[in-house]
Amino acid sequence: MDNLDRYLDKYAELIVKVGVNVQSGQHVFVTGAVDQATLVRLVAAKAYEAGAGNVHVEWADDSLSRLKYEKAADEVFSDFPAWETAKRQAFVDKGAAFVSIVSSSPDLLKGIDSARIGSFQRASGQGLREFRRAIQSDKVSWTVVAAAGQAWSQKVFPDDAPEAAVEKLWTAIFNSVRLHEEDPVAAWRAHNETLHGKGDILNGHRFRKLHYRAPGTDLTIELPERHLWVAAGSTTVTGIDFMANMPTEEVFTVPLRSGTNGYVSSTKPLSYGGNIIDRFKLTFENGRIVKVEAEEGQDILQQLVDMDEGSHYLGEVALVPHESPISQSGILFFNTLFDENASNHLAIGSGYAFNIEGGKTMSPEELEASGVNSSITHNDFMIGSAEMDIDGIKDDGTSVPVFRKGAWAI
Ligand code: ZN
Ligand code: ZN
Repeated sequence: MDNLDRYLDKYAELIVKVGVNVQSGQHVFVTGAVDQATLVRLVAAKAYEAGAGNVHVEWADDSLSRLKYEKAADEVFSDFPAWETAKRQAFVDKGAAFVSIVSSSPDLLKGIDSARIGSFQRASGQGLREFRRAIQSDKVSWTVVAAAGQAWSQKVFPDDAPEAAVEKLWTAIFNSVRLHEEDPVAAWRAHNETLHGKGDILNGHRFRKLHYRAPGTDLTIELPERHLWVAAGSTTVTGIDFMANMPTEEVFTVPLRSGTNGYVSSTKPLSYGGNIIDRFKLTFENGRIVKVEAEEGQDILQQLVDMDEGSHYLGEVALVPHESPISQSGILFFNTLFDENASNHLAIGSGYAFNIEGGKTMSPEELEASGVNSSITHNDFMIGSAEMDIDGIKDDGTSVPVFRKGAWAI
């Protein structure tokens, strides 16, 4: 790409200004891979330009991660170091902004013993519990964005030469975050308003339940009384606006923990724990997953569902039209940040406190009493298709079409 440098510069600026909206004196915690050093350095530079205090970079490396899974002793995976927990907590305590740049291969850990992956996911989930809580209640500003890693690009564009695949993935990433617009910051403001408008309509309906129907899916999800539909931009408890995911196309709320019944089938592969889970079906009784069936990745999906008690329940219900811009690109990204924004989806695990009225300041016990699920994990999975119908059911039993054939009906 001739102008990759120029786009990376614009992208870094968007991440800093719209993603986490760095404030004067604020510390910034960046997680990125060594092969994305150019973007990571640009993000650091833009953050300092915006007046950041300390920009701390946490480097990741896919090759070293895989090497550890292949060679390290078993006990390494069940021990999440206390200093890792303390490091993040120190930044949370200072009100830092958290930027996470994802670029890993979707099946980085293919062939690794799923028990090792499960151990690490559980240990890190427990170690980062407080951090997750801070994020899920908007205590700090945070954003998840992507970068075109080599192996990931080749997974998405297997027929292209390595270099061409990377270029194509960068182009897809830049398009998805509206970088081609004259003024991307203004474009995001407009996009934010559109999505918030949908959220307002849904909040106005006060649905008691949602009923999903599609091939392989017949699912009813009850919503808590004080649920809130939320989209795109968030605001921290200290009043800083930020964009938690870029791209984002979803309008979402929290399900009532005990209120999901029926079955649902996946419509896109899910990359989880460095493995692909595909063509799977979950069956629910009173909120709890009672049956897990997957044609690919059954072991790893079972590990996810068995992580703790809360991972047997849902924590998010998100609406995305089948014809979202990302969906229209026709690209299967094998990465949840993108695929979830091309499809209706649900999440296994913890719910977001901000999806309940007054939730941001509730204690974990109060959230639980409101019907919000708690878990050490939160993983979106895709269920939308052009054949999906969703009805919203009100307290008096009346039914309102919310989705018809994968598109908004309200
Ligand atoms: Zn989501
Ligand atoms: Zn989610």
